[in-house]
Amino acid sequence: MDSIRKPAIAPTSYTFRVAQGVWINDMRDSALPNRQWPCVELDRQARDGLRASFRLQAESGFNSVTLFGLLTASLWSPDIPHTVSPERVEMVRTILAEAHAFGLKVLYGLGVYSWGFDHIIVQDAAVRGDNPRAMCGTRPESRQWMQRVVDYLLAEFAFDGFHLEAADLGRCNCTTCSCESDTAYYSRLNAETAATIRRASPDAVLMVNMCGYLPPGTTVPRNDWPHLQALSKELDFLIDPGHTAPFIEPSLRRQFVGSLSCALGTSGGVWVYPPQRWQRLRWFIPYTQRTGRHLEALHADGGRAVEYYMGPTRNPGVELNVAFGGRKLAGVGRDNQDVLLEVIDELYHPRTTAAASDLAAVFEEAEAAFFANYQLRPETSDETPGQIHLTPLSGRRPGPPIYLRDSMAAPGRLDYCRRLQALLPDLDRLATQCRSGGRIARIRRCIRSVLGEQA
Ligand SMILES: [Zn+2]
Repeated sequence: MDSIRKPAIAPTSYTFRVAQGVWINDMRDSALPNRQWPCVELDRQARDGLRASFRLQAESGFNSVTLFGLLTASLWSPDIPHTVSPERVEMVRTILAEAHAFGLKVLYGLGVYSWGFDHIIVQDAAVRGDNPRAMCGTRPESRQWMQRVVDYLLAEFAFDGFHLEAADLGRCNCTTCSCESDTAYYSRLNAETAATIRRASPDAVLMVNMCGYLPPGTTVPRNDWPHLQALSKELDFLIDPGHTAPFIEPSLRRQFVGSLSCALGTSGGVWVYPPQRWQRLRWFIPYTQRTGRHLEALHADGGRAVEYYMGPTRNPGVELNVAFGGRKLAGVGRDNQDVLLEVIDELYHPRTTAAASDLAAVFEEAEAAFFANYQLRPETSDETPGQIHLTPLSGRRPGPPIYLRDSMAAPGRLDYCRRLQALLPDLDRLATQCRSGGRIARIRRCIRSVLGEQA
């Protein structure tokens, strides 16, 4: 492993600076055409994409990474160790060793009662409630299956911790389970699973992501806070991701943080989430200004954890967002413009300070042009718009650019494209003023792809 340069960690930094993979092929630098999301094929290109992302994460200041799909997406075999081939087990161990060599902790993305149990639910009637993708949350047999998966993972792999997720595919609503509120139900399953892991592995980093806990746009009622407070006793941190809006009312966040026994955080305020089958240079959405402001506000409220979305490093907008986000997490008090200029210096090697600031202006204008025209959902804010879908996740065809067609009105789309087009002459000029001309060429390819969607 050749040496890498890591940024200094400032006193005002986030404790848990987590790169959220999410799925192993989300960081892949080539698309997987015609493949249904989430594709968990683990081939050479998947490994190369992970390695490139690990390097960028470590060099940017992240201290851990969450990975879903190393072993399965939704299909644990009832004979758990036979879920994957011996070759895949070895590949996973190699990937773990590579992440460790970069100084990153690896959190295994673990579905809790869901995301993994589809076969088991078909085969074992005892765990079957009313949801074919989630085991019943009140049967002892369900808890035993969860335990078997945890035992296997702890026995076979050197994961440093677990990202626990119970709510993404919904819950069981059988007559017994439906007595509990969503927050009570998911928090109980997460807490039980975390406690099981903690007993066997006291040093494991344990966190829960609340993705799917409640219907979009709704918040956890105050009388349900005790369920999250009890859960927090089993965790290192809790993530209220903010796909559409936070589940904890933002004006109460500071008070909520003070009531927990673990750290609290978000997914960074804004992120782009394309399926693995989408071409990697098809979009260009830098968002460092919004990220910078969100991370400052969250830290001021007492937030000390962020699970920050990754993507293909080859996309220059993704690369910039990751490089910026890691540095900001490692030094929240730093000026956002200074961080952006440092990232541009590291990645693009501009020959003059004028070229550096001109390139910074290109990224800032691309961000401003996008958010000036992207229609936010009513429950989101311009500062924290949450998850931006470029195309529907499901399906095998690449899919249309819904972020342009559905989330922008025709005049807005025109304005966005005009403003992106106006950046092309600047990029032509900057290509000769930066030593990393290949990255400039990729920005141009991204912008031309977006302009091509207009046709
Ligand atoms: Zn049930």
